[in-house]
Amino acid sequence: MELLTDILVRRTNHSKLTEVDFTALEFGKHISDHMLVCDYSDGEWHAPHIVPFGNLVASPSMLALHYGQTVFEGMKAFRMEDGGINIFRMEKHYKRFVRSLERMCMPVVPKEIFVEGLSRLVELDEAWIPTQPGTALYLRPFMFASEARFGLKVADEYRFIIFTGPVPALFGHTIKVKVETNYIRAARGGTGFAKCGGNYGGSFFPTLQAKKEGYDAVLWTDAAENKYIEESGSMNIMFVINDTLVTPPISDSILDGVTRDSLLTLARDLAYKTEERPVSVQELEDAFAKGTITEAFGAGTAAVVAPIGTIHINGVDHSIPAYTKTSISTRLKYRMERLRTGKEEDKFGWNHIV
Ligand SMILES: *Cc1c(COP(=O)(O)O)cnc(C)c1O
Repeated sequence: MELLTDILVRRTNHSKLTEVDFTALEFGKHISDHMLVCDYSDGEWHAPHIVPFGNLVASPSMLALHYGQTVFEGMKAFRMEDGGINIFRMEKHYKRFVRSLERMCMPVVPKEIFVEGLSRLVELDEAWIPTQPGTALYLRPFMFASEARFGLKVADEYRFIIFTGPVPALFGHTIKVKVETNYIRAARGGTGFAKCGGNYGGSFFPTLQAKKEGYDAVLWTDAAENKYIEESGSMNIMFVINDTLVTPPISDSILDGVTRDSLLTLARDLAYKTEERPVSVQELEDAFAKGTITEAFGAGTAAVVAPIGTIHINGVDHSIPAYTKTSISTRLKYRMERLRTGKEEDKFGWNHIV
């Protein structure tokens, strides 16, 4: 393989930067000028290159479109207080990417390509990193089976791409969620722990149903009994019950969220009690009856913390008391933002300064 410091770069002559209103960003709408592309064929990875962001040429028989070998990551880069650029928890995202790829029988992208590719790309498009509080440059590494052939098989050719885009701070207000006890997201032995495309396609139908009923998202329960809370659409779930931060343990049907891990670590650092254990639907109902549940929130890269105001369980809407500056979730989110932008010490070594 060629030296990776030699990633070939072809710059755009038509930057779209001036077309973006950075004071009115929408999540997922704007994409930065360049992308990294790297192909795998004949059993090896070829030299990665950075090119202007643009459409792909793909065969209609491209295997990913038929049999779903496709995996992605979602991470963020920040403009630091001192002007530097930080890619948050790159290592942990890479490890999860590898686990997802292995589950989907896809070849592992070498770490240098992932790390150097992200670093060079973010550096090149650094003018796209927004600076308003809570904003970030979202990074989307992903990979799919690019081989053109329609027989059902594990593909022999793949394409790895990274593109980026500025995103706003999310969730100024609380959300309403519905505990789903009919449909499921992931079963034991399945692909729930992998960030693979199929997991999301299958979740749209029940989620749309919940939206029609007035909820923002579903809270999935376990596939075997529908008794235990698993996670939300694209976020892990956390509760504060009896002043303890409680979250379901990672399993093969729950995605191992980087934000979940960061918030647990910060909570322990702030001397809050934390528990990773199964949370049953019954326990939630009891906690609402006794008034011992004081917070519930989603944890994910997009929103960091998404406070929940209402949880619907078996026909009843339960309300969570209002969040304040001293809520655990508020404090955790505040610390995350400060740590990631260099306003406080990176004591866990989470920042990768480009
Ligand atoms: C991405 C994702 C999460 C959150 O993971 P982060 O690493 O914190 O962004 C949680 N659940 C699902 C299903 C996801 O796809």
